Amino acid sequence: MKVSKGRSFLFRIPEGEEILSFINEFAKRHNIFIGTVYAIGTLKNPKIGYFKEDRRQYKIMELKGTYELVSLMGNISIKDGEPFAHIHVALGDSDGSLYGGHLVEGEVFVAEVFIQELLGEPLERKPQKNGLALWDAEE
Ligand code: ZN
Repeated sequence: MKVSKGRSFLFRIPEGEEILSFINEFAKRHNIFIGTVYAIGTLKNPKIGYFKEDRRQYKIMELKGTYELVSLMGNISIKDGEPFAHIHVALGDSDGSLYGGHLVEGEVFVAEVFIQELLGEPLERKPQKNGLALWDAEE
């Protein structure tokens, strides 16, 4: 699918906000239907998921404490008629060890976010046989 660049947004999420719902609300508020998301910062008590192919559902890992948000990257597309952010994270502990996975939730201590809006045909997530909601835009 061919896209072109739209608006760019650079902002900080206030301390205490839940990062995933904040990004989803931001996308809705600014009518961002396709885009890419990047962030760095610090998260508290993040929950991340690992998709278990055999069980067709996410195993959720609840991390306790404060973690460096070493890298957050994801995309925005449409799910159930609304902007939906799909985000993966790498989280670092005080020893520098990394945990990674599909972001389920996390409380913001610091989050510096860059969102690049993309313009093109509607890109929608639809339920698949494998249990995931994916794009039809295969190449
Ligand atoms: Zn994922």
